[in-house]
Amino acid sequence: MDIILFGMQGSGKGTQGKILAQKFNLTSFDMGGALRAMIASGSDLGNKIKTIVESGELVSDDIILEVIADFVHKQSADQRILFDGIPRTMHQMTGLLELLQVNGRDAFGLLIKITEEEAVNRLTKRRICVDCKTIHPGFYEGDACKECGGHLESRKDDTDLGSIQKRIDAFKTETTPVIQAFEARDHLITIDGQQDIEAVTKDLIDEASHLFK
Ligand code: AMP
Repeated sequence: MDIILFGMQGSGKGTQGKILAQKFNLTSFDMGGALRAMIASGSDLGNKIKTIVESGELVSDDIILEVIADFVHKQSADQRILFDGIPRTMHQMTGLLELLQVNGRDAFGLLIKITEEEAVNRLTKRRICVDCKTIHPGFYEGDACKECGGHLESRKDDTDLGSIQKRIDAFKTETTPVIQAFEARDHLITIDGQQDIEAVTKDLIDEASHLFK
């Protein structure tokens, strides 16, 4: 069974995804990271995506589904995938579940729940490494990346309150129905994301232990 991490921006999906992927040998896919890599490549498509991502809008479902199909097709059948940042709309959910089904796969959702206030607070304080792209939460006090020593800066889309609000609104209107659909299928576990990193990891492992076997 593949795993989909759901959560409002700043909920810690990236951090927890990294920990779970390492601990349980999952292949992780971070859609936001994949889009930022496309932007950095400077391709025509990357330049088109840049404006959308920086303004806090969602990239079109067609592009997202093309990127994810390309990734899933490259995975072997026995390698479990951990998805972070997809699906974010009902159309993406239908497309992803169809794609998984034709490849003999299925997915279970894990929701890391935080309040909107906590999300805004975390986003405005976190920093990303310009080299290895590791996200550092606001409470990290160092000047350099803890992984590679690289320079830390705020993500462009985290410096603008309008962009932050747009992303949170998109989560509420577009992604919440997706989460509800997983819940209706009994394919969702919800974890309290307001705790510290270690406690969230522990809850994820305890509550979803059957997914990691
Ligand atoms: P993230 O790194 O998950 O916060 O994503 C950063 C930005 O990439 C989002 O604000 C969107 O502009 C874009 N993005 C990431 N994943 C998706 C998706 N599944 N659908 C549409 N846009 C996305």
